[in-house]
Amino acid sequence: MDYEVIIIGAGPGGIFSAYELAKSGKKTAVFEAGCELSKRKCPIDGKKVLTCVNCKTCSIMSGFGGAGAFSDGKYNITNDFGGSLYKHIGKNTALELMEYVDRINVENGGSKTKLYSTAGTRFHKECLQNKLNLLNAKVRHLGTDINYKVLENLYAQLKNKIDFYFEEPVKTVKKIDGGYEIYADKKYTCKYCIVSAGRSGSKWMEKICRELEIPTSSNRVDIGVRVELNAEIFEHITDELYESKIVYRTEKFEDDVRTFCMNPRGIVVNENTNGIITVNGHSFEGEDKKTANTNFALLVSKHFSEPFKDSNGYGESIAKLSNMLGGGVIVQRFGDLVRGRRSTAKRIAEGNVVPTLNATAGDLSLVLPKRILDGIIEMLYALDNVAKGTANDDTLLYGVEVKFYNMEVETDENLETRHKGLYVIGDGSGVTHSLSHASASGVYAARRIIGG
Ligand SMILES: Cc1cc2nc3c(=O)[nH]c(=O)nc-3n(C[C@H](O)[C@H](O)[C@H](O)COP(=O)(O)OP(=O)(O)OC[C@H]3O[C@@H](n4cnc5c(N)ncnc54)[C@H](O)[C@@H]3O)c2cc1C
Repeated sequence: MDYEVIIIGAGPGGIFSAYELAKSGKKTAVFEAGCELSKRKCPIDGKKVLTCVNCKTCSIMSGFGGAGAFSDGKYNITNDFGGSLYKHIGKNTALELMEYVDRINVENGGSKTKLYSTAGTRFHKECLQNKLNLLNAKVRHLGTDINYKVLENLYAQLKNKIDFYFEEPVKTVKKIDGGYEIYADKKYTCKYCIVSAGRSGSKWMEKICRELEIPTSSNRVDIGVRVELNAEIFEHITDELYESKIVYRTEKFEDDVRTFCMNPRGIVVNENTNGIITVNGHSFEGEDKKTANTNFALLVSKHFSEPFKDSNGYGESIAKLSNMLGGGVIVQRFGDLVRGRRSTAKRIAEGNVVPTLNATAGDLSLVLPKRILDGIIEMLYALDNVAKGTANDDTLLYGVEVKFYNMEVETDENLETRHKGLYVIGDGSGVTHSLSHASASGVYAARRIIGG
């Protein structure tokens, strides 16, 4: 065998597997479709290149650090959201591993960052009194800048102990006697293989599961908008909790709408998933990079039942509609939306929220299904009760934000597939949807291999 362990994907899942395996001394290689961290550069510069030029591999989603490299670096320590890892490995183990990951991040550059917690907050009661449910969590906010630094430090430690193959997407994974053969630019063999292909590798993961006859299931997509408002409106919440996950059950359809990925004094950004432009958000730890706005997503989960199976295709179609109408992301003032008229660049410029993303002014009601849009409008009014001003006319809504969920790959309590020695972890497994859960799953699978 060329290696004892081959890891596919250098996102948080793959990195934390590599971290554990490096400590154990096992001969390990990591194959990554994208570039090493220092070479990850998105060509969109806001001047010459304004929109996505569809690079061979997307530097935002791929490369050392994975989809999380330029993220806000919010590591949520909780079983309440971020994935269902606990269903495989147990609630206590999942929390212990998330704490362990947090310690490593702190040791590698995150020591000056803050750990927020919902424990004992009076905001919990205020939410309940307004039909809102605040989920429990601790969150370490690294911020985009420190998150990057932590990744740099981890790479510096790992690169001498592990063989990294960048810009080498793995094409096939084959079962051979006593292990696996992977094909990148050429063949490599290993005893154990950890697949951590994340969101960008979702289509490839489906193919591998088909070829290796690993059962999968899929039926969920989250669709909604990113809300941007004056930071003062949410300050009393974000100063105490930083990230609050709040769930609202709509009166009309009894759908759950939830806040997601809150970025106090942050920026709204484009995200490219398989060539489709959607919206996301970032914030920075450094004072000099903070803006006057806070942004967060409002998402409605759509679970489909038989015979429909292509939940991601449904989400993609909605995102494509916004791309068709707006050439990318559409932005609309809340006041225009409820009055049934499109926003114009002029009306947005006259408002008191200065957009942090250059998006096309338009009409989200032409894009989002009524049921989803009604839910979002109801939730904005509910949030207005705990953060007065949320439902102001000038509040900006960017659409669409879509959270694609990978199909769930069938694995056991070791995160091992029906093929002995083949582990599927992180967001690519459909089990995790966050930095902390993906990282914890990486530590867990590596320890199964080291212990076994
Ligand atoms: C803009 C943005 C902001 C986010 N902010 C947060 C946040 O604040 N908090 C949070 O918890 N989560 C956040 N997330 C989600 C988080 O980034 C993911 O949950 C996390 O990165 C998942 O880690 P992973 O290792 O499973 O997959 P990924 O990070 O997606 O990494 C997978 C890697 O595998 C590589 N790969 C795929 N296929 C192949 C192949 N065939 N061969 C070789 N390599 C391959 C990819 O190039 C990629 O680098 C954010 C995501 C985005 C896009």
